[in-house]
Amino acid sequence: MASHDPQFEDRLNQEYNLKGRTRLAALFSIALYVLFIGLDAIYAPQYFMTFLFIRLGVLAAVGLILLVLSRTNSSRSVMNVALALALIDAAAIAIMIYILGGFLSSYYQGLNIIVMGMIVLIPLTFRWTIYLYVSIWIMYAVPSFVRYFLGQKPIVVDGAEIEVWRFVTNNLVFLTSIIVVGAFGSSIMESIRRRELRSRIKLEETTARLQESNVKLKSLDELKTQFFSNVNHELRTPLTLILAPLKAVLEGRMGKLSPTHKDTLETMQRNGYKLLKLISNLLDLNKLEEGRMRLRLKNVNLVAFIPPLLAAVKPLADQRQVRLYSQNPPHPVDLTLDPDQFEKVVFNLLSNALKFTGKGGKITIYIEEKDRTVTMTVEDTGIGIPEDMLETIFDRFSQVDGSKSRAQAGPGIGLALAREIVLVHKGSIRAESELGKGSRFIVEMLKGDEHFDDEVLDRRSEDMPIGLRRRLTDTNEPHVRDIVSDFRRRQLVDLEKVDIESGRVDKAKIHDALVLCIDDNPEVLKLMKMLLADDYDLELVSSAEKGLAFLKAKNPDLVLCDVMMPGMDGHAFARAVKKDESLKHIPVILVTARTGAEMLAEGMQAGADDYISKPFDSTELKARIRGQLRLRQMEAELSLVNRNLRMRTSDLVDQQKSLFLSTVKSLASAIDAKDGYTRHHSTRVTEFTVKIAKKMGISGKELGDLELAALLHDVGKIAVPESVLNKPGKLTDEEFKLIKDHPVRGESILSPVVELKEIARIVRSHHERYDGTGYPDKLKGRVIPLGSRIMAIADTYDSITSERPYRRPASHRFAVKEIIGCSGTQFDPEVVAHFLETASTFVPNQGQDQEEEAKKA
Ligand code: ADP
Repeated sequence: MASHDPQFEDRLNQEYNLKGRTRLAALFSIALYVLFIGLDAIYAPQYFMTFLFIRLGVLAAVGLILLVLSRTNSSRSVMNVALALALIDAAAIAIMIYILGGFLSSYYQGLNIIVMGMIVLIPLTFRWTIYLYVSIWIMYAVPSFVRYFLGQKPIVVDGAEIEVWRFVTNNLVFLTSIIVVGAFGSSIMESIRRRELRSRIKLEETTARLQESNVKLKSLDELKTQFFSNVNHELRTPLTLILAPLKAVLEGRMGKLSPTHKDTLETMQRNGYKLLKLISNLLDLNKLEEGRMRLRLKNVNLVAFIPPLLAAVKPLADQRQVRLYSQNPPHPVDLTLDPDQFEKVVFNLLSNALKFTGKGGKITIYIEEKDRTVTMTVEDTGIGIPEDMLETIFDRFSQVDGSKSRAQAGPGIGLALAREIVLVHKGSIRAESELGKGSRFIVEMLKGDEHFDDEVLDRRSEDMPIGLRRRLTDTNEPHVRDIVSDFRRRQLVDLEKVDIESGRVDKAKIHDALVLCIDDNPEVLKLMKMLLADDYDLELVSSAEKGLAFLKAKNPDLVLCDVMMPGMDGHAFARAVKKDESLKHIPVILVTARTGAEMLAEGMQAGADDYISKPFDSTELKARIRGQLRLRQMEAELSLVNRNLRMRTSDLVDQQKSLFLSTVKSLASAIDAKDGYTRHHSTRVTEFTVKIAKKMGISGKELGDLELAALLHDVGKIAVPESVLNKPGKLTDEEFKLIKDHPVRGESILSPVVELKEIARIVRSHHERYDGTGYPDKLKGRVIPLGSRIMAIADTYDSITSERPYRRPASHRFAVKEIIGCSGTQFDPEVVAHFLETASTFVPNQGQDQEEEAKKA
């Protein structure tokens, strides 16, 4: 339980004030020793003087202990002093107990007081407590036992004798129990003390670490702020120096410009102003948040201050078909403010109102004067702001998420800047809104000028952006000044509309490939047009949805698509294209301002064929487009070659098939020719088979197979010698076996050809019988292929009606009767039924033969 870390031990004793509490215990023991003199006088008057001496001795010793204590500092020594104090107190009581008769005295209660008092008063360690308790027990028990064994008489209480051993037991049990309880208490209290100290130390360490990081963060923040404002200054100066000559060029001071040049330079100028505005706003915001903004206060009549600002916004409002109104008191409303800064507040509120108010909407500025304040309210009938965002929109970079708002995405610093400006004027700003109905921004300003903090006031006379100050003396650069005043006029540059006609660019020019460009920013479309119009037919559209519709209608050769767009974004577009079988071959190149591996991976996963990040280099853009187009062309050529190859292969297969067929057909005629009696047998069987099959509704490939099977059904007879085939007499068993083998042989001749597999099966089974007694496999019923069952009837009919070496031909009627007779045994009754339906059209062999005979004659 004891920790071996001396530092920790010292700390523990310090925290729990070991020294102070030992002193307290010493004082307590002095007080108690003095008080108990009274008890001595009552309980043991016979020993009063002895006890008085003992007590005085203890008091002197405790006095000495107090002296030592005041000079002791190490926690171990204090602990020893505390132990000594307890032992002295206990020893004195032990002596008095001995004098009073050992176990027979009730003075042992004094020891109980020490046992309990010590652990309560002094934070002794468990080990020290045990030392103390063992010593107390010995101090009491040993001398008392000595008295006991020397012999003591029983005590008489109320006339009854109580033996001494009962007192021994009683007192020892009580003292021991108190010591055990005390030891437990001491152990528990010590572990609590240690645990508490450990947590406190941990807490202190964490706090120290936090403080350290806090200091680091603060210095980092300062550095960042410093860096930020340096960068901002450094950006503003070169930007101003780009814009100034640009303005001079655009004004025609350096020669006349062609419309294309003018257009391009204007785009550059507009975007330069946008950048300048952003940088200036960030710089202002930074200054305000750091308390470095200085105000140049003037007395302003707000009623006269607002109209020129509204007039500046009017053309943009007209463009967007939004009406502007103002309502103010009929008398001047004076306010002390920094007009340049307050103008930014008004412009920001107006520009937001314009951004988020659709065609036909209305924006109103109200000015109201109260006792001590003036409020300016900018109210619009636009899309509104969700209630939970009404506070947070004033935070830096905060934006309401939602497609409508995203379509007008800005950097999210306008309102933060407005709030800071208002706050530095000691005013307040808040928003109220109803989603879908509109928003109101209410700015409340205090009248008079007493409320301004002295340190925010700028007493200098010159007002010029910091980046420009050092150029003031440079009289050869008058345009730099113009940029400053221009910049004030162009606070609403974000809202300026860029003219770019969507749709096909320059229809007169025809190029090899049609490229579809999709971007919600008209200026990017304009740039695409400038870069690509000479090489490709271009279609410009402003949303992915429109792009998809165009894709389906016109099948362009390639798509360049922006990623971050309101509504369907570039990734969703790429996914939609690649999912559509009819469109997926069209290459999609995504164009994005966001870079990074994750973005790239997301684009590629969506199925984009390539990715290009803004700002892109025109050569790179063109090279990527060319690469994709070439790839696509090669793919198209390859698929053409493939198609041709497939066609040629199928031609060859067809040729092979017909060659094979003519071969097997000649084989069939060869067999027919071999058997003089059965001439044309195969042809006739084929004819009959087809007739029955058609009656049964068989058609298409199945019928074709059956026809071929019938033609070839006796092909196996090629292996049977003519002498056997044409033998007039009875056949020997051997010869009969040879003949019976022909279906199997027929199958083995045909089966090597894959296309004839089914035919081979029919041929093999054409001598099977419906009742299962046929050959070669003894198949039964419908297990016999249908073709074989049909062919069996056709074959039998022709055999009966033909002349054979061993018999005369029988008549048609006879043959039909025979077949009916064998229905259900040799033949399938269903097929027999169909045979009967068509049998009347069968022309028996003898007719043909007779005709032929006649012809020959
Ligand atoms: P930014 O500098 O991008 O214009 P602001 O700080 O001016 O950003 O505005 C923050 C957000 O507050 C906007 O993106 C928009 O979502 C919301 N907002 C501001 N004014 C209005 C308004 N009049 N109507 C609807 N939403 C607004």
